Amino acid sequence: MSANCLFCKIAARQIPAKIVYEDADVFAFADINAQAPTHLLICPKEHFASLEEATERHEGVLGRMALAAAKLAKEMNLGGGYRTVVNTGPGAGQTVFHLHMHLLGGREFSWPPG
Ligand code: 5GP
Ligand code: ZN
Repeated sequence: MSANCLFCKIAARQIPAKIVYEDADVFAFADINAQAPTHLLICPKEHFASLEEATERHEGVLGRMALAAAKLAKEMNLGGGYRTVVNTGPGAGQTVFHLHMHLLGGREFSWPPG
């Protein structure tokens, strides 16, 4: 756990959040400012800031995040289409520097993204 990291504090239940999934390696919770009817954030329990800090060691947890997204999408009946997004760095809109995958669904999405 990294001191002063919002998402580490959510994982440790020091800050309340609607946690919808947890296993040994990842946890997922509802985004506080939902951009779609379903908007979850899927995180590794190990703190690292972004994909820029990911190494070979993180290969397993990165796969588990994607599989958790697919499992949650199925549970939330997002079969019509959903979007997973990982913002990396301020230039891409990253605001919380604990790696997270957005899972958005329940509405139509356009491409290219903004
Ligand atoms: P980013 O912009 O870094 O890709 O995404 C960060 C996300 O975290 C945003 O969608 C934002 O709404 C969400 N967020 C920020 N603070 C909190 C919080 O305290 N609780 C929850 N549940 N989500 C948060
Ligand atoms: Zn953290």
